[in-house]
Amino acid sequence: MWRATVLTIFPDMFPGPLGQSLAGKALANGVWALDTRDIRAHATDKHRTVDDTPAGGGPGMVMKADVLARALDAIGDDSRPRLLMSPRGTPLTQARVADLAKGDGVVVLCGRFEGVDERLITGRKLEEVSIGDYVLSGGEIAALVLLDACIRLLPGVMGKEASGAEESFADGLLEYPQYTRPVIFEGAAIPEVLSSGDHGRVAAWRRAEAERLTRARRPDLWTAYQARGKPPKL
Ligand code: SAH
Repeated sequence: MWRATVLTIFPDMFPGPLGQSLAGKALANGVWALDTRDIRAHATDKHRTVDDTPAGGGPGMVMKADVLARALDAIGDDSRPRLLMSPRGTPLTQARVADLAKGDGVVVLCGRFEGVDERLITGRKLEEVSIGDYVLSGGEIAALVLLDACIRLLPGVMGKEASGAEESFADGLLEYPQYTRPVIFEGAAIPEVLSSGDHGRVAAWRRAEAERLTRARRPDLWTAYQARGKPPKL
């Protein structure tokens, strides 16, 4: 079973959307397990303080290393990757998600306020992971994003095992356009090739469309794709 342990000061945010749909069914069926830990339970004072003012001054509050260390250490010996959701982190990719999904699970720390004391990050060897170049108010939604991306790849979660293999990023390209009935919608027809029944032509069309979209929208992915020695059929 793939196990997610989430450390947060807002435990009620979990499983949240991950209790619904595919992830929710998989949770109920024991494909993955969720262990939500309330960081405040590891505070020692009467007010259960988890944050303090930044050393050196400035606005906001910083999450305390001592409280977070106790919360992390209470999980015990564990080989799972320990991640800190952080806008300074390594940007999350589908490749990293696929790696994480293949493992035993993750331990995820959700930051709040201005972030967490640096000594906690280095002292507990946390891997900082970002979900994009923008700033959220807390790590919880970022953790939900990461978990959702992993869970859908766990065996048996998606309807067809195959549906992970062909989608955006799986081979370094964005996905080709999709269509379904009606055949004519507001005067626009489904491309003829998709009704041809010719699997070879369909595959070639999809590949060409994936390449066209990737080149137009994501020059960064396109450059990396070409560098890997898969020159496009132009
Ligand atoms: N002062 C920090 C931002 C703190 S935002 C800075 O400038 O870097 C508060 C918390 O939200 C962070 O500790 C982190 O856990 C989470 N968070 C915000 N943006 C995020 C992002 N893009 N990816 C992952 N986590 C993020």
